[in-house]
Amino acid sequence: MKITDIRATPVTVPLQAPLRHANGAHWGRFVRTIVEVETDEGLIGLGEMGGGGEAATAAFEGLKPYLLGRDPAQLEEMRFLIANPTASLYNNRTQILAALEFACLDLMGQKWGVPVHDILGGKLRDKVPFASYLFFRYADGDGRGEVRTVDQVVAEALALKAQHGFTSHKLKGGVFAPRYELEAYRAMAEALPGDSFRFDPNGVWSTEQAIWFGQHIEDLNNDYLEDPVYGMHGMRRAREKLRMPLATNTVVVGFEQLAANVLQTAVDVILLDTTFWGGIRPCVKAACICDTFQLGVAVHSSGELGIQLATMLHLGAVLPNLTFAADAHYHHLADDVITGGLMKYRDGCIDVPTGPGLGVTLDRDKLAQYHENFLRLGGYPYDQDPMRPGWTPLIPNSRWADPLDARTPVIPR
Ligand SMILES: [Mg+2]
Repeated sequence: MKITDIRATPVTVPLQAPLRHANGAHWGRFVRTIVEVETDEGLIGLGEMGGGGEAATAAFEGLKPYLLGRDPAQLEEMRFLIANPTASLYNNRTQILAALEFACLDLMGQKWGVPVHDILGGKLRDKVPFASYLFFRYADGDGRGEVRTVDQVVAEALALKAQHGFTSHKLKGGVFAPRYELEAYRAMAEALPGDSFRFDPNGVWSTEQAIWFGQHIEDLNNDYLEDPVYGMHGMRRAREKLRMPLATNTVVVGFEQLAANVLQTAVDVILLDTTFWGGIRPCVKAACICDTFQLGVAVHSSGELGIQLATMLHLGAVLPNLTFAADAHYHHLADDVITGGLMKYRDGCIDVPTGPGLGVTLDRDKLAQYHENFLRLGGYPYDQDPMRPGWTPLIPNSRWADPLDARTPVIPR
């Protein structure tokens, strides 16, 4: 089988409401790029990458001279061809490589008539558990969906549990001052006895704030405290003072950092992201290293539609040491581009796809509809807050949002 064409299509898919985070917001929609790798046998493999627009489309177009005529099964060859680690100092193609790896694994699975998890060693579980992943949210254009007050956080956690069956709950913080977010996190935990919890302020606290917050949640049933401070040394200093695991998706996102963390441990749980690490296979490799050195692993979400979610499910299916629920933004989406619409949660879990390849197919009408949406709306600055134009978030941050500010942004839809 040989690669004959590569297509990249930016899409904009609506979220239920704008999601607030430490560096800005998802402005009520996800912009993603759907990648299709065509072959001489008529099979098409699917990939997905965050962001979109002319730059993303041009980046994939520019790789055609490298990849056309190549065998999609030669994945290690492809890694060195387009993302050689020293050449990548100049071109930073890791996320592009990831999208292409997804598509090539999808092609191999289709060709061989097996799901991707069989190529990766076989599934150990039929479904992957997920955490509820709560965000502070602005209201949508109709005034619905706001999560700002402590009561709204609790109500949202209870509603998500009732709807999807989650038993682990993640609150994304770093938006308001730590004392306010502590109140929200504790209230959520107290409203859901027996469940487990994790908090992630995206590394915007000082080491001292991280230690202060951590010491005030030690009595709760925490899965872990995620990236309370940015940097390995800050994490190491916080870890010395806290009686709970620390997790990261920011300071260990590659093998060099993983080696450093093994030699001088700063983080207990590595959140593996199929995009950040350059594909599903590098995540499996990293999980093996974590297993050897008895570090924990979980599955990170960088915002996904169904294709990337499928990569997370196949990854989650094959990892023996996946002892935590995975993260996904997925339940915030209003729709998807895959056939059949949004995948369903049952008892907080999503079934691992069993069809050939990634086990998902494109709904061409939806792809066209959401590509039109992208052309109409364009991109948006993910690292800006629509209600605070010109705001610059610091690390450590001190420029918090005001929890009493109930205004709602007007964002084109
Ligand atoms: Mg995180």
